[in-house]
Amino acid sequence: MSGKFLKCALAVVAVGFSGFAGAACLESGVQVQILGSGGPGPSAGRASAGYIVWVDGVGRIMVDAGSGTKDQFHAAHADLGDIELLALSHFHPDHSSELPAILWPQGSEARLSGPTGSEGFPSVTEFLERMFGGSGAFPVLGDRVDFDVVTVDTASREIAEVWNDGEIQVRGIGVPHANVPTIGYRVDVGGSSIAFSSDQNGSDPSFVDFIRDVDVLVIHMTVDENASGYGAQLHAKPSVWGEMAARGNVGRVLVSHISAQSADALQANLDILGDNYSGPVTVGEDLLCVEIE
Ligand SMILES: [Zn+2]
Ligand SMILES: [Zn+2]
Repeated sequence: MSGKFLKCALAVVAVGFSGFAGAACLESGVQVQILGSGGPGPSAGRASAGYIVWVDGVGRIMVDAGSGTKDQFHAAHADLGDIELLALSHFHPDHSSELPAILWPQGSEARLSGPTGSEGFPSVTEFLERMFGGSGAFPVLGDRVDFDVVTVDTASREIAEVWNDGEIQVRGIGVPHANVPTIGYRVDVGGSSIAFSSDQNGSDPSFVDFIRDVDVLVIHMTVDENASGYGAQLHAKPSVWGEMAARGNVGRVLVSHISAQSADALQANLDILGDNYSGPVTVGEDLLCVEIE
């Protein structure tokens, strides 16, 4: 089960390695690092959604690329050349708008996964064409990117294998985020596992099966318990997150995508979460590393 969680800089001190440029949070084991712990709107200085999964000191998977994550990517000493999977959850700007900045100027030949499209939202293939195609916004990046694109059918709600290299398995599943095609991801590395809920309202019980027994579940605490209307169609209330984590028997909840504008407002949400989930809870912050064990 997950135990240690510490800031990158502290980890460098704690394990005593040199802190050379390119160093990860720890040089062994599996960690998830939050690039951005903030929500879609004002987020008290937090960047928007983005995460890196580190395996033995190498940042190999990046999940989402929301606004502000480019600077955090470099602050984390991640190397774009090491990223083998770019896993995008959906095409709300707070999850995907910083992709061109992260790719500039180096480019990437990574695997890149994203959702199928719908009215109002492009498929991952359409998104990439609109970004980097000859008639897109950034054709200057067109010859610097050569993605191996994986499309997850979010409407089917069936589990899709996104990547499996024999050591790391990444799976995706459609999650209910109002009318927005959205993917939740699960990463398994040896006996370590982490799930990324992404934005969702928590109404699909198949997601609980998907996350069952993971060491760490990243949740997006974007609305409070009084949410209603479209906001409640988009996002799960704190009590719903707690129920999902409890039913899924997850080892630890990592709270992210935090929109609360004050410590008191955040604490109120955490109290409700704790009323429904008795396991350990870590409140996310930018560049926080959480060890998965
Ligand atoms: Zn969001
Ligand atoms: Zn969203």
